[in-house]
Amino acid sequence: MAVKQQMMYEGKAKKVFLTDDPKLVIVDYKDDATAFNGEKKGQIVGKGALNNRIASIFFRLLESKGIPTHYVETLSEREMLVKKVQIVPIELVVRNIAAGSLAKRIGWEEGTILPKVVIEFYYKDDELGDPLINRSHIDVLNLATPEQIADMEEMARQINIHLKAFLADKNLLLVDFKLEFGVDADGNLLLADEISPDTCRFWDADTKEKLDKDRFRRDLGSVEQAYEEIFRRLGGVTQ
Ligand code: ADP
Ligand code: UDP
Repeated sequence: MAVKQQMMYEGKAKKVFLTDDPKLVIVDYKDDATAFNGEKKGQIVGKGALNNRIASIFFRLLESKGIPTHYVETLSEREMLVKKVQIVPIELVVRNIAAGSLAKRIGWEEGTILPKVVIEFYYKDDELGDPLINRSHIDVLNLATPEQIADMEEMARQINIHLKAFLADKNLLLVDFKLEFGVDADGNLLLADEISPDTCRFWDADTKEKLDKDRFRRDLGSVEQAYEEIFRRLGGVTQ
């Protein structure tokens, strides 16, 4: 059993703790919620525990499909044991349906099904507000090698296929989602960070009801209930 040691990092939604094993860290999921680059702040009661459980389900699914992830085990209500990685400072966004910033950028109505999967890269830099970047920018900033980019993109496409199929079975549409990757102590590229209603858009397939962080971003109400609904549909049991 890895023993929790000092906090290494506190982010907007999670804390990361070192352990007595240099290859492992513990991620602690918080109830804090932020949007619009930290301008909007709040708390979603029970979010940390729900996201920890939801992300655990997704990481186990992806591991079973052969996708290498940082996931080791779920330790407690809010804590997940993961492999420590050096995070590649790029957020990959995968989109199946136009929504959010893409709908604005290309002028398509939210909800329009994209004829092909769209993959975008954002520079993970809070001070710059995580700007959209392209391969030339990645190259010039030396954020990742062309091989790493190709591997991340291929993994992102596979992850999309597996998550979409899994969620379709629960009558959920996977509109879009954000992924982060990292390199572990042995040099392996792994899917890291989280997959949850904080980082994905999930819509009910029939009603198109939003069951994700857009309920917080857009003040739609019933935020906790939406996260609970996702957990329930994934097979989780809430009191
Ligand atoms: P932010 O940094 O955007 O506020 P979080 O609150 O989610 O985000 O903080 C978690 C941090 O931990 C993120 O910066 C994320 O990149 C990083 N992280 C995720 N998985 C790992 C891992 N396996 N090893 C090291 N760092 C990780
Ligand atoms: N996303 C995220 N973290 C970010 C930005 C986006 O997890 O810092 C996720 C977001 O939840 C959505 C997808 O990435 O599922 C696409 O987000 P978009 O670019 O539309 O941005 P937004 O509308 O959130 O500004």
